[in-house]
Amino acid sequence: MSTDHAYAELGLAPGASEAEVKAAWRRLVSMWHPDRNGSARAVEQMQRINQALEAISRAGFRRHPARASAAAPQPPADEAPADEAPAPARTIQRKVELSLEEAALGCTRKLSGRYQLRCDGCDGVGWRALGGRCRACSGTGAVRRSSLYNWFGTVEECTACHGGGIARQTCGGCGGSGKLAEQRFAVSVRIPPGARDDDLLQAAARSSGGETLAIEIRVAVRRHEFLELLDDGSLRCEVPVDGFAWAAGREVQVPTLEGLHTLALSPAQLVYRFEGRGFPAQRRGPRGDLWITVAPVFPDPLDAAQQALIDRLIAANRGRDGKPTQPRLRDWERRMSGRRRDG
Ligand SMILES: [Zn+2]
Ligand SMILES: [Zn+2]
Repeated sequence: MSTDHAYAELGLAPGASEAEVKAAWRRLVSMWHPDRNGSARAVEQMQRINQALEAISRAGFRRHPARASAAAPQPPADEAPADEAPAPARTIQRKVELSLEEAALGCTRKLSGRYQLRCDGCDGVGWRALGGRCRACSGTGAVRRSSLYNWFGTVEECTACHGGGIARQTCGGCGGSGKLAEQRFAVSVRIPPGARDDDLLQAAARSSGGETLAIEIRVAVRRHEFLELLDDGSLRCEVPVDGFAWAAGREVQVPTLEGLHTLALSPAQLVYRFEGRGFPAQRRGPRGDLWITVAPVFPDPLDAAQQALIDRLIAANRGRDGKPTQPRLRDWERRMSGRRRDG
């Protein structure tokens, strides 16, 4: 199929924009899809429409640099038709709630549901008009029923045409119910690592009746009890620790996405970085860092026994000469000793 021929097939002038081509394709598919169109030509027509789109895609869409910003929003990539594959007949929306751990590491969710299709053959009403008058009531919509006790009879609505007076036929497609058999679907969806709150993910499924379904999954990420997620993927947590344990470089347990982790405290260090233990900055990308900030907590005020212990610690921090053992403190006190007091 030549490109010009392909544009003509879609009812477009040669060189129509990508948005125009896709809009025309969608319009024609909705007319000719065999699910909706029972005519014998439908399948052949669908092939021609798809071949036309394929021919234009292969030749490349015309660019519209001048109109790029003003143009109608482009359909997202996942909406673009795949070659020959019918567009999904139905979109199912689902919400998936994830813990921060599940969102960070990815997880699998089983989604299922059921729905009932309206009968296309009769538009859901259960019958089709045949045209012409209803024979049962000669088109009046009413019939007279007589009985032994009521010689004149009563006038009732004609059951054959439900009072419409037009000949009708029960729809064979749905047996008159207007509905088709219930459809079920069940699909296992892989949630990629790094999904954020309010993200929209796409998946596909097939219903029990063979219908292609587009599944739209809205992600909700629960707040973590301890860890705060920032936009760049880093996780933050402030951990209160015993001030004396911190000063003594003891170990404490800190929360991570993988569970509790033993952190050896360093005296004088408040912020600790766990590289690659944060959240993916981008979906499926590498993980950011986890930052633990410790907040040493001391008794305030110290009681008498604690004061006595601190006195012993201070004393132990000085040599026989009564001067600090640490060079920095010793040097500072030496430089201060020559100064005059202010009062
Ligand atoms: Zn009738
Ligand atoms: Zn029907």
